[in-house]
Amino acid sequence: MCCKLPNIDELGKKAGDWCHHCSTRSNCDIYETRPDSCRSFFCHFMENPRLGEEWRPSKSRLMILGKDDGHTVLVMVDPDRPDAWKKEPYLASFHNWSQRLNVVINVGARQYIVKDGLVQERPSSAS
Ligand code: SF4
Repeated sequence: MCCKLPNIDELGKKAGDWCHHCSTRSNCDIYETRPDSCRSFFCHFMENPRLGEEWRPSKSRLMILGKDDGHTVLVMVDPDRPDAWKKEPYLASFHNWSQRLNVVINVGARQYIVKDGLVQERPSSAS
């Protein structure tokens, strides 16, 4: 999912599009020479051993990122599985996390905020 969900300026890759160096959809075709932004990127699943195997992005179709403010978790959802975040154990975990963190869920151009036991869609800035 890290080769699909984020935009990568170095590669001119848009968010949600597969990188053209990921022909197998699982391994990098240019692993030895991949750009620095790929080398330095680690999603929360890779950084946090408390997230079990069910959170592996290829399985969950979610990529969890901590924002620099230290108070926000960004959940990027595979646009080909837009409801993946509503399944369990994910949604219950987001509600749990939201008691101490801002939980923001991005599904393509749509954005949802989990707060106070509710999920609210944030109005698009384009509308
Ligand atoms: S260059 Fe390789 S590691 Fe980077 S996004 Fe493309 S396939 Fe993934």
